[in-house]
Amino acid sequence: MNYILMGPPGAGKGTQAKKIVDKFGIVHLSTGDMFREDTKSNEVISKLVASGQLISDEIVVNMVKNRLLQEDAKKGFLLDGFPRTLVQAQALDVILEAENIKIDAVFFIDLEYKEVIKRTSGRRVCSCGASYNVFFIPPKEDNKCDFCKKELIQRDDDKEEVVKNRLTIYETQTKPLIEYYRQKGALVKIDGLKSEFEVFNQISENIK
Ligand SMILES: [Zn+2]
Repeated sequence: MNYILMGPPGAGKGTQAKKIVDKFGIVHLSTGDMFREDTKSNEVISKLVASGQLISDEIVVNMVKNRLLQEDAKKGFLLDGFPRTLVQAQALDVILEAENIKIDAVFFIDLEYKEVIKRTSGRRVCSCGASYNVFFIPPKEDNKCDFCKKELIQRDDDKEEVVKNRLTIYETQTKPLIEYYRQKGALVKIDGLKSEFEVFNQISENIK
């Protein structure tokens, strides 16, 4: 049981990934987590991360390869955040072929950009931990937390300009992968407009 999870920012990949690995007992291979772990041990990566530079395909591919070949991944894995570019996807194919590992499906959570922007740029958080969305779950009072009445904050990552930049990168680098996996017959398109529960059901139906 080996899978890849893809989708634009704000499509709920993180939440779905957790649900999938919990239900099916496979390993969550998240490049985000790997970066956080590697930053402690790997000097090259920590320098790049600290300077805000993009990490090269070569470094990412090697990191994923090392993680993929660890013993626990043999029971099955879900790749999340990788591959992000066509070069990474082709490198992954070489690794998988050499190790005789097969990908059963590539889940693509499809969500139009208009919705992505609403979900992310509408997000507001409170220092008490409460979170809101001005479009979907607005606070009772404008920009004030329902619980502690503090002023709500918009995280830098959620600012519309930042989200639009991420979507541009996604459109040019990651979107071509959808066609790549479609041609391989591995792509399973998931309707990301549905509720969290229904999205999970759509994915689960394809894991057997
Ligand atoms: Zn609060």
